[in-house]
Amino acid sequence: MRKYVIILLLLCASVTAQVQLDYYLPQGEYDKNIPTPQQFLGYQVGEWHVSHDQLVYYIKKLGELSERFNVQEYARSYEARPLIVATITSTDNHQNIEEIQQRHRSLRSGNDIDVSTMPAVVYIGHSIHGNEPSGSNAALIAAYFLAAAQGEEVEKMLQNTIILLDPCMNPDGFNRFASWVNTHKSKKPTAAAICREHNEVWPRGRTNHYWFDLNRDWLLTQHPESRGRVKIFQQWQPNILTDHHEMGTQSTYFFQPGVPKRTHPLTPQKNQILTKKIAHFHAKTLDKIGSLYYSEERFDDFYYGKGSTYPDVQGAVGILFEQASSRGHLQESVHGDVSFPFTIRNQVKTIFSTLEAAQNLRVELLSYRRNFYSESRELAQKDEIKAYIISDNNDKKRLTHFAQLLQRHKIDVFHLAKPITVDSVEYTEENSLLVPTHQSQYRLIKSLFERRTSFADTIFYDVSAWTMPMAFHLSFAELKNKAQLTYLQGENYQYTFTPPQTTFDEKAYAYLFTWDGYYAPRALNRLLQLGAKVKVATKEFSAVVNGAQKRFTYGTILVPMGIQTDKKQIAHTMETIASEDHVAVYRAETGFTPVGMDLGSGNFRSLQPPKTVMLAGKGVNAYDAGEVWHLFDVRFNIPLVVVDVDDFSSLDMHKYNTMVMVDGSYNLSSSDTQKLQDWVKSGGNLIAAKRAINWAVSAQIAPLQFVTPESTYTDRLPYISRVQNEGSQITGGAILEGKTDLTHPLLYGYHHQSIHLFRRGNMAIKKPKNVYSVPIVYTDNPLASGYMSKENQQLIKSTPAIVVCGKGRGKVICMADNLNFRAFWYGTNKIFINGVLFGRIIDNGSVEK
Ligand SMILES: [Zn+2]
Repeated sequence: MRKYVIILLLLCASVTAQVQLDYYLPQGEYDKNIPTPQQFLGYQVGEWHVSHDQLVYYIKKLGELSERFNVQEYARSYEARPLIVATITSTDNHQNIEEIQQRHRSLRSGNDIDVSTMPAVVYIGHSIHGNEPSGSNAALIAAYFLAAAQGEEVEKMLQNTIILLDPCMNPDGFNRFASWVNTHKSKKPTAAAICREHNEVWPRGRTNHYWFDLNRDWLLTQHPESRGRVKIFQQWQPNILTDHHEMGTQSTYFFQPGVPKRTHPLTPQKNQILTKKIAHFHAKTLDKIGSLYYSEERFDDFYYGKGSTYPDVQGAVGILFEQASSRGHLQESVHGDVSFPFTIRNQVKTIFSTLEAAQNLRVELLSYRRNFYSESRELAQKDEIKAYIISDNNDKKRLTHFAQLLQRHKIDVFHLAKPITVDSVEYTEENSLLVPTHQSQYRLIKSLFERRTSFADTIFYDVSAWTMPMAFHLSFAELKNKAQLTYLQGENYQYTFTPPQTTFDEKAYAYLFTWDGYYAPRALNRLLQLGAKVKVATKEFSAVVNGAQKRFTYGTILVPMGIQTDKKQIAHTMETIASEDHVAVYRAETGFTPVGMDLGSGNFRSLQPPKTVMLAGKGVNAYDAGEVWHLFDVRFNIPLVVVDVDDFSSLDMHKYNTMVMVDGSYNLSSSDTQKLQDWVKSGGNLIAAKRAINWAVSAQIAPLQFVTPESTYTDRLPYISRVQNEGSQITGGAILEGKTDLTHPLLYGYHHQSIHLFRRGNMAIKKPKNVYSVPIVYTDNPLASGYMSKENQQLIKSTPAIVVCGKGRGKVICMADNLNFRAFWYGTNKIFINGVLFGRIIDNGSVEK
């Protein structure tokens, strides 16, 4: 029997691209008015990689021709490609679709809804990683079947199910990849793994336009693709959501459940039971065609930011599928040559096994959803925490971005109706939010606020912590007194900005704004790009502004009007800053101040426009590079020149005053290294993060050393325990606490002695000799949330998180952490951008040389 299966598999795996439709679909009656993908595209599915526009046109065509289809655009990618979802169900259901949706949604709030006649809702998602194309190509086949197949069985399925077919969740990455493989396709398929067709160039097609992994963004929702999709998800609240991926060519096929011990503890056991019940349907269909597969290994259900886990904390079942990739059209493997059609067919089969499971388990899935939420409300009732109070007294924009994240997941957020002091932190009405725990999304709220440091397993497929207020650098407290909640809960939270009454004209002596607002860097950049003369305060002072005395702290921006060339334009820009960046701008009529330095003091340091270049390309961590690009381009509108490492030798460094080297392994030639050294010595400002610090150390521009673990003798251990033991020493994503030096230019705009940093990896820098060169040091017990082994906590405690080094007249700012993690770590973005904008004003005596 085993032999038979293997032979059959090899036959399947090595089919050439020339397959017929019945390779994918059962023979039967199909509506002749519905074009097959081949009739529409001019080639059979699997012969070429479908481009994103062709895919969209086909699904839209089915929308025009089939009464079962309703196609809607839910977002546009950064490259302006439409993201679409087809709602597919019986014509009867379509006629009452809003009522069905309403009733389905009520499962989140009602205890006694009769689910016996309700359809199940299934969201089928494809190729969120653009270079995992079998999903989206399978969507062509699935869509055709759902539009054209005739017969009682199909009608019954459509009556019992609302299918949300999302043909491509990452259009930009998907198209990048399709172009690559089609460009390199030979008439006679080349299976050699080394072939260019199977090896895309950096940054490859996995990610979106700014090189973000969209399958980590479901919870974070920082990108248009996720925002649109989460909106549909919350509208429909599906019972099952599938996520079709690909993995290494040598592998087989994976479906969930994943590693049982690595399921998030907030996910009910019943979720995993249902996942397993559904798995039987996948197994059955893959057995029939002899495909190899596995489950309950390798992948997990821990981080709620993935498509297959996000539903698990919301009364649904998320399912991850992973197909061994042909990457191009045909690729050699230990299982024989893997053809593109073969990979597509496995995905088609599990799309239909999911739909079959949904039909068979319909009532159980719907009841589970209803019970999940009634149980959530009971848990909330029992929870001693009645609400979370969150605030930031200086930056309402950052606070609001946090509130909006919660609101996108249908979490109710309120204003604080009365001020309250908790643990000696004052929460004001103006700058605080209140999130009651007693609401339907109780479990999701818990996952966003909890600080978990103990775990059933110590290996994680992704991050182990995402405590949101820490990521956003917000004060937060738990409210345990229920009686207090009744008078503390205000109106639904809505952002408002009341600017100070400032007159904008060229007659002002100076304008001032603090560095507190999230968009202050964007405001400063507006001025610098105009050629305005702008200074930053390196000391505290008080000034008379808008007719009253006001205290200003480190990092306050001063725009003296008397020395500007185009005063009118600058005054106008100050007004734009107030209205668009929501930065509070003040007007001074005199330079003479009541307390501290006067406005002409040398302790206001002149700023230069940032001219920044970032290295990208082979060896560079594309995620980290993309996050910097996104920060500059989307958030702050600051120009950034991204240069390939291979082109560095022809780069004219004199045109730039700042350079970013994100995490990566850099192999610059000796002449390129010399060039960079010379540039730093002559005053260049280099920001080096994570492994770029190793490069800077070896290039002798950062005189740092690392703390290495002491080697301890261990007796022999069982062979089988190695993976678990070594895995336990990986820090895949935890939150560490650091102590700040608020007088340091890198901390301008900050007000707390404590800050939370996202930590991946175990880099530990030795304390430098210069005691002024460390703006942030980890505390002596730094693990604030997530998993880090005891040994690594010991290694890293009390070591510097950032050291400012120097060579000649230049600076090398070394950051042990990624301060822009996945674009949602709003709390440390400003430190990074301060390195860009203020790096050059750091005193030469305060750097490690
Ligand atoms: Zn993937």
